[in-house]
Amino acid sequence: METKYIFVTGGVVSSLGKGVATSSIGLLLKSYGLNVTLQKIDPYINVDPGTMNPYQHGEVYVTEDGAECDLDLGHYERFLNYSLGRDNNITSGQIYYSVITKERRGEYLGKTVQVVPHITDEIKSRIMNLGQKNSVDVVITEIGGTVGDIEGQPFLEAVRQMRIDCGRNNVLYVHLTLVPYIKAAREFKTKPTQHSVRELRAIGIQPDILLCRSDSWLTGDERKKISMFCNVPENAVIDAIDVECIYEIPLIFHQQKLDGLILKGLDIERDDADLAEWELFVERAKSPSRVVEIAVCGKYVELRDAYKSIMEALYHAAVANDARLKLKWIDTDRIEDEVAMENALGMVNGILVPGGFGMRGVEGKIRIVRYARENKKPFLGICLGMQCMVIEYARNVAGMKGANSTEFDDSTSYPVIDLMPGQRSIKNMGGTMRLGNWPCCLESRSLARKIYATNKIQERHRHRYEVNPKYIKPLTEKGMIFSGVSPNGKLMEIVEISNHPFFVGTQFHPEFTSRPLAPNPVFYNFIKSSLEKI
Ligand code: GLN
Repeated sequence: METKYIFVTGGVVSSLGKGVATSSIGLLLKSYGLNVTLQKIDPYINVDPGTMNPYQHGEVYVTEDGAECDLDLGHYERFLNYSLGRDNNITSGQIYYSVITKERRGEYLGKTVQVVPHITDEIKSRIMNLGQKNSVDVVITEIGGTVGDIEGQPFLEAVRQMRIDCGRNNVLYVHLTLVPYIKAAREFKTKPTQHSVRELRAIGIQPDILLCRSDSWLTGDERKKISMFCNVPENAVIDAIDVECIYEIPLIFHQQKLDGLILKGLDIERDDADLAEWELFVERAKSPSRVVEIAVCGKYVELRDAYKSIMEALYHAAVANDARLKLKWIDTDRIEDEVAMENALGMVNGILVPGGFGMRGVEGKIRIVRYARENKKPFLGICLGMQCMVIEYARNVAGMKGANSTEFDDSTSYPVIDLMPGQRSIKNMGGTMRLGNWPCCLESRSLARKIYATNKIQERHRHRYEVNPKYIKPLTEKGMIFSGVSPNGKLMEIVEISNHPFFVGTQFHPEFTSRPLAPNPVFYNFIKSSLEKI
C-alpha cells in the first residue's frame, strides 16, 4: 500500500485538544490493523523544547532515543501504545538549521535560498521520510498553533503541496475548530469555524473533515450550517464534545463513523475495527469502586501541563487498581511549618515529588520527603524527587549536616548529588543532559525487583546531576538501598528503604512509559500501596 498522509490543523483558539484528537485518529486507524505513525510539527524557532521554561511549554516529553519533545508525543505514545522517536517531532528551528547548514555547504548550487521551495521542500521531506523509513501505511501529522499564525505559514504551504505531490486519495485534511455555546443567546455559534475554514481555504487547503469542539452535541441545523458554509459534507462535520476521560474521544469519533470516513477518503479497504480492549479500559475508568488521593508536590502546580505524563501515569495506575484518582496539588514553596505539612498531607493516601530544576521549592520538597519517610506514607520521588530523598536521608539519618546537591549549593560539605565528570565541561544547554533510555540492573530481593518482576530494565532519563558515588557506601551503611544501578555500577537509578510500605525514588522518569493498557509498574505499585494504607 502506498503511504497515506493525514494533516490535522487547528482553528479559532489554541488548547482545543488537537493532540488528543490526532492520537484518537491514530488509535482508530491502528485498530483496523494499519501501521500508523504520528508526528507533531511545532512552528517555533527553538530546535526543541528542552531549553524552554515549563511556563512557556508545559512538560518536555522524552522519547526512548533521547529527543526532548512536545508533550503531544506523550499522548501519541499513550494512545498508540508504542514508542516513537526524534523524527516524530519537528520544529521550525530544526528545519531552518538544516537548510542553513546545507546552504553553507554549498548544496544549493548558487541558488537564492527561499521559503518556497527550499524550506517547504525540507518540511515535506521530513514528513515523507517518516512514512518511507518504517513502511508506514498512514502518517498523521499535527500542525501546532492555530491557522493564521505567521510562523505556521510555511508548514501549511508544504502540506498544501503534499496533495499535488502524493495524489488526491493519498492526502486528507482534518481541521479541529471551536463551536462555542453562547448561554445568553442559547445558541451554538458557527461563525468562528466559518472564519477559520475560510482562512485555510485562502491558502489553498479545503478541509475534508471538521472536528467541532463543543461542550454538548451539535444539532442537525448547526451541522447543516457548518457543512454549507465550510464546503464540507454533513457527515464529515464531527462532534468533538467535552468528556471527562480523554481516552473516550476515539470511541466518540468511532460512534460518528469518523474512521469509515477517513478510510474512504484515503481509498483504504478494511474490515471492522478492533476496539475491545480500549472500550474495556474506558468502562473501567468510568466506574471505579474506590478512591485514592495522591498529593503531587512541585513548584509548577498551577500549571498542570507541566506534569502531564505524571497525571496520566497516576490515572492509568489508578484505573488498573479499580480506583478513582483524586489529585491534591501542593506548592512546595508554601509548606512553611509542621502544621501546614500535616494539613496538606495528613489525609492523602500517597505522596509524589516529581522532577524539577533550580533551587525554588527544594527545601519544601526535602521536608515533605522526611514527613513521608517518618510517617510511613507511600512515597514516590521522580528525578529531582529522588535526589531530594537522598539529600534528606543524608541529612537526617546519616548525620551529614547541610548535605545538598551542587545544583543548589556548590559549597556544601556533603555534595551527595553532583555533576558527573562528563557533564562539567558542557557549555551548550540544548540536548546535553543524560537523555532517553538507559539500562538499569535491579538488585535481587529489592522492592524494585519485585515491582518490575525482572532483573534488567530500560527507562527514560532527563537530568544532569547524579548521586555522587563517593557517598554510596556511607548512605548504604545507614540503610539507604540503591536497588537500581547502571550495568557498570556507577549510576544510581533507584533508591528505596526497608521498614516502609513504599518509599521509592527513581532517577529516571517512569511516567514516560506508562500507557492506559500497560501502566508503568512503579506507578501501579505506588497506587497499590497507597490503597493498602487506607
Ligand atoms: N535538576 C535535576 C538534574 O538536572 C533533576 C532534573 C529532573 O528532575 N528532571 O539532575
